[in-house]
Amino acid sequence: MKALLCGACGDIQALQTDWRSCRCGNTKARWTDPQRGLAEFDGLDRSKCYLLGLNNQLLVPAMLGELGIWEDFRAAHDVATDVPHHVFDKTRAGCWAVVVKVGRTSDVKWVEDAAPSDGDDSPSAPASAPSRGHAE
Ligand SMILES: [Zn+2]
Repeated sequence: MKALLCGACGDIQALQTDWRSCRCGNTKARWTDPQRGLAEFDGLDRSKCYLLGLNNQLLVPAMLGELGIWEDFRAAHDVATDVPHHVFDKTRAGCWAVVVKVGRTSDVKWVEDAAPSDGDDSPSAPASAPSRGHAE
């Protein structure tokens, strides 16, 4: 799951295909391509706009009530952080949750840098598909 996190008001909003804003209005975000995990952000004070990424390998079992005891949580955490070349990996964040500045990963861009989205009939597309959550 990806969500916007506003450093000005502390609000968290899950990304949708339409624009969502935090409570204070500083941070806005939406999916540009939810299948590929691509999103775009806009903000008044952009130094306070963040992406919150939660690894679904842990989040989904937790939401389904499958993590009844801490050993279950720990096992799901081990799975969620065993993802080479991904921000969650043990060699990188080593955590199921990451907070990322917009533009620091290939999947989250500022609105003016993002690929064309719905409403734009431009036939152009990025030359190569960015990988999900890939850092640098
Ligand atoms: Zn805010």
